[in-house]
Amino acid sequence: MFSTMAQRLQELMVLFFLAIFSKAVAGLKPYTRANLMPDAANNNYCLSWRLAVEANNVRGWRTVPAQCLRYIEAYMIGGQYDRDLEFITQQIWSYVSGIVPSSDGLDAWILDVDDTCISNVFYYKGKRYGCDPYDPAGFKAWALMGGCPAIPAVLRLFMDLVEGGFKVFLVTGRDQESLGQATADNLHNQGFIGYERLILRTASYKGQSAVKYKSDIRKQLVEEGYRIWGNVGDQWSDLQGEFLGNRTFKLPNPMYFVP
Ligand SMILES: [Mg+2]
Repeated sequence: MFSTMAQRLQELMVLFFLAIFSKAVAGLKPYTRANLMPDAANNNYCLSWRLAVEANNVRGWRTVPAQCLRYIEAYMIGGQYDRDLEFITQQIWSYVSGIVPSSDGLDAWILDVDDTCISNVFYYKGKRYGCDPYDPAGFKAWALMGGCPAIPAVLRLFMDLVEGGFKVFLVTGRDQESLGQATADNLHNQGFIGYERLILRTASYKGQSAVKYKSDIRKQLVEEGYRIWGNVGDQWSDLQGEFLGNRTFKLPNPMYFVP
């Protein structure tokens, strides 16, 4: 009698555990593509992040999300960044080709310097493509070496603008006193020859936002009589504020944000 009850209890326990187990299995996620490819889900997130950054929907960010290191690396050095630059400079060129410069020599273009004319991608590789926070001393040491390579698509645009009779102003937030000579040398050794003026940040603009500083510079040029046909930069702060020019063009840069 007692052993029959024990056997019955044992059977009930087995059934109970089977019921729990089948419930747990049923609750597991099915094997979907996303489950099997966690990298794909991560890449989707990083693509959304990069698009939001480029569209200026994400602002004031200090570092690239750590999970996007490989994604940004692949974007920057895997070919897509270069293709994007080529695409944008083609758009710029189709706009330029519709402008007939006047003979008064006052048709102007404004180009930013860092990651517009010359590239810091090599430096940022050492900063995990922006996953590490901004390092002012490290960047200054890099800039002082004067070894930033030209961005080929922008160098061709620059040469076409100069040849086409435009006055090209290179406007940079780099400090004039400490980086003026190295920057001028770097631009020269990379083929940026024939620009009208290289304008760097003087002491009076120290501590001011890039938007205020660059707006003031553009205002001065307009007061000198220049017509700013286009303004090209990799930061939104290059392209905001006043006296923006007839058109602005944003180049990609998912590695850092300059306020
Ligand atoms: Mg720049």
